[in-house]
Amino acid sequence: MAANQRKTTVVSQTTVTKTTSTKTVDRQVGKTWGRDRDVSFGTILISLGILVLSPVWVLYTFISCNSYQCAISGPALEIYGASDSFAALQTLLIREVPRFSPYAARLFFSWVAFQAFLYTFLPSPIGYGQRTPAGHLLPYKVSYRVPEIRSLAIGCSHVNGLFAWIVSHAIYGAGGYYFGWWKLSILHDNWGGLLVAANIYGYFLTFFVYIKAHTFPSHAADRKFSGSFIYDLLMGIEFNPRFGKLFDFKLFHNGRPGIVAWTMINLSFAAAQYQKIGYVTNSMILLNVLHATYVLDFFYNEDWYLRTIDIAHDHFGFYLAWGDSVWLPWLYTLQSHYLVRNPVDLTPLQFTLISAVGFTGYFIFRSVNHQKDIVRTSNGECLIWGKPAKVIRTEFVTSDGKTHKSLLLCSGYWGLSRHFNYVGDLLISLAMCMTCGTKHLLPYFYIIYMTILLLHRIQRDHTRCKGKYGKYWEEYMRIVPYKLIPYVY
Ligand code: NDP
Repeated sequence: MAANQRKTTVVSQTTVTKTTSTKTVDRQVGKTWGRDRDVSFGTILISLGILVLSPVWVLYTFISCNSYQCAISGPALEIYGASDSFAALQTLLIREVPRFSPYAARLFFSWVAFQAFLYTFLPSPIGYGQRTPAGHLLPYKVSYRVPEIRSLAIGCSHVNGLFAWIVSHAIYGAGGYYFGWWKLSILHDNWGGLLVAANIYGYFLTFFVYIKAHTFPSHAADRKFSGSFIYDLLMGIEFNPRFGKLFDFKLFHNGRPGIVAWTMINLSFAAAQYQKIGYVTNSMILLNVLHATYVLDFFYNEDWYLRTIDIAHDHFGFYLAWGDSVWLPWLYTLQSHYLVRNPVDLTPLQFTLISAVGFTGYFIFRSVNHQKDIVRTSNGECLIWGKPAKVIRTEFVTSDGKTHKSLLLCSGYWGLSRHFNYVGDLLISLAMCMTCGTKHLLPYFYIIYMTILLLHRIQRDHTRCKGKYGKYWEEYMRIVPYKLIPYVY
């Protein structure tokens, strides 16, 4: 990196110190911040492991729930306990691996096509993402601004995604409950066939975007080639692959088929529980409410999502293409799969405690993210916890050599730790898992996974922000030394 950096004199302002001064900053020219390009052999090996093991893990959890009451040890014990483990594994796979089902495939592909239709045609003006490392400021279909449409929707600034969620759930509910076109448990009933179809799509998309990146990229200067086929396949080459100007692969796949389906899958599993035991447990209701809160928050604040790491940092490869198609809908909903097989009736005290953990987490999650958003949109001219926001005014350089300005908030939650929003997310994730009681480990997969994901993210974000902001990031680290939990980490 050093070879690509040179010292340049620029004028910068630091609100924290309330001075305007001439300072020397490191500028990157040519090679920019953003996703790693030079990856080590170890990273390639880990990438290969993720590519191979993620689908195996999804299949394993599917089999555990389908045939072993969601006991994580079920399949492993059967194989381990057999006199010929290899033969037992073969038998288990032949018996348990879900088969291709034309009906489930039609269901899945119609769903993706329907979401693409809603994404494209539901009314929505334009929001803008973060500036990319190559200097692009891309438009996205997000927030309504037309007053009539706004008043048609629920009376405030909503987004195309929320509209898509409402339309999709209204059709699912009306079709299942009123018209009898399908059973409300349709997703639960076709879960194996849907898993096969989702994998077909996830793999197709992964290879399609890999080829597209080489042959007809949307923004060629924002591509990152690592020199490793495996790493590029996993982490993606293109930053913002698109069809035309507005069909953004990343926003669509991160935000629509999987996340709209998330709450619908839960509802479908709740319906299956009702069919099985004649009522819906309070744990299933609480789980549905917690997941719906998280999902609706995502859509209500869809414009904010453009400024998160998913959109502002990640490139589009297997990690997002397959991850959004398979990993998210199958593993983020594991608790409702568990509750169908193992209904849990929470005591009033347990119900209250879990609700308190979940909604405290949600309150923190939303408040922290909101503080960052208002400070950025008001250019630092706002109150945080009743006092003028303290910010570090920063500069960064894109690969076209241009200098841009930004700011880092260092008061409020963002003065407690550099990722306090993750604390809120971890609390709400824990509450979702706690709805399943304490008999089994599998429903706790989500909190374990989120902890690993977010700790790794802290490291990734640190590398990115240090590369992007240089000495300004170091100043922020000096003012706010804790990464996650004040005085702990
Ligand atoms: P953040 O929203 O914290 O975004 C990090 C980015 O914000 C940085 O790269 C930087 O980008 C900017 N930033 C960092 N520090 C500051 C500061 N002090 N002031 C202003 N801007 C700052 O992280 P994520 O995108 O990871 O997460 C967003 C939310 O989504 C979180 O609440 C997280 O918990 C949740 N999440 C949920 C996941 C799930 O699967 N359920 C997965 C991942 C996240 P820049 O300066 O370039 O704008």
